[in-house]
Amino acid sequence: MPTFPQYLTEAQENELRATANAIVAPGKGILAADESTGTIGKRFATINVENNEDNRRQYRELLFTADKTLANNIGGVILFHETFYQTTSKGVSMVKALQDMGIIPGIKVDKGMVPLAGTDGESTIQGLDGLGERCAQYYKDGARFAKWRCVLKIGKETPSYQAMFENGNVLARYASICQQNGLVPIVEPEVLCDGDHDLETAQKVTEQVLAFTYKALSDHHVYLEGTLLKPNMVTAGQSCPKKYTPKDNAQATVQALSRAVPAAVPGITFLSGGQSEVCATENLNAINLYQGRKPWALSFSFGRALQASVLKAWQGQEANVANAQATLINRAKLNGLAAMGQYKGEDGSSAASESLFVPKHSY
Ligand code: 13P
Repeated sequence: MPTFPQYLTEAQENELRATANAIVAPGKGILAADESTGTIGKRFATINVENNEDNRRQYRELLFTADKTLANNIGGVILFHETFYQTTSKGVSMVKALQDMGIIPGIKVDKGMVPLAGTDGESTIQGLDGLGERCAQYYKDGARFAKWRCVLKIGKETPSYQAMFENGNVLARYASICQQNGLVPIVEPEVLCDGDHDLETAQKVTEQVLAFTYKALSDHHVYLEGTLLKPNMVTAGQSCPKKYTPKDNAQATVQALSRAVPAAVPGITFLSGGQSEVCATENLNAINLYQGRKPWALSFSFGRALQASVLKAWQGQEANVANAQATLINRAKLNGLAAMGQYKGEDGSSAASESLFVPKHSY
């Protein structure tokens, strides 16, 4: 193979590959706790908790200091910049609290959505300027992986070629810069579930978006063995009149992935995308039970579907912390089972069954 300046060294590749594989070891997935200040404010509003820095710190401390058994099912946690540099009430950095539990800290590095001119309301994501320096600093401070979320939406004329091409390219540039700095990039091209489209349409669009993404990653020489993919599960639009079973969703999801995601990618960690906690876990389980070619670990990187009932249990009250932590550990365990196709269901009457859909969701 020809060698060019800035190809990764073998040692760099080995480190990236080891990190990616550790995050998706059997029964493990990711807790996405990287809500921006505005987004966590929306979550807090549902339980009447004021969105100030100390409440955000207390809540993240609750998540990251749950019992050590959390590490049985959570391989990595994605943090927002503010949280990454906060400390627990005992004066331990949040990063160290996670490391002490055996959980790998990760960092959201994108800087949010901007409109893509000339499209029907589509977007791209900014944050490439200075990204190399930021990644180097985060690595020094303990991060070993990163996240960058792009968003595509299904409409009459969307996603457009322009949006798929641009978002694939920006994900590839981000991934390349992360790898140069020792961070495993989580590549997240999310196809939103807003709309009334059917499952077949969602599958076709997801396949196309993934095909653009992996062409761009190849063009940018991204080392696939040292990446993780974070896609949507393939499900019908949120307001589609036709209802599908987890088995239908699993078939559409695995087919789309098997057509577009190279076998070199070690793991696929789905976002939950507004599904209820129970639906997300059921679909993940069905995906793992689906009989088909599945060369990657198929796991989770849930935000809402790991935290909704935790927030409900907490209510911003110190007295509820232990109960909220137990709720998190239970949800993580159920998703860990689903990541191995061993989830046996649960009582569906609880908060865990409530829809978590947010129109045109931003993070
Ligand atoms: P949800 O699981 O709430 O969709 O979010 C995961 C995430 O990190 C989106 O970027």
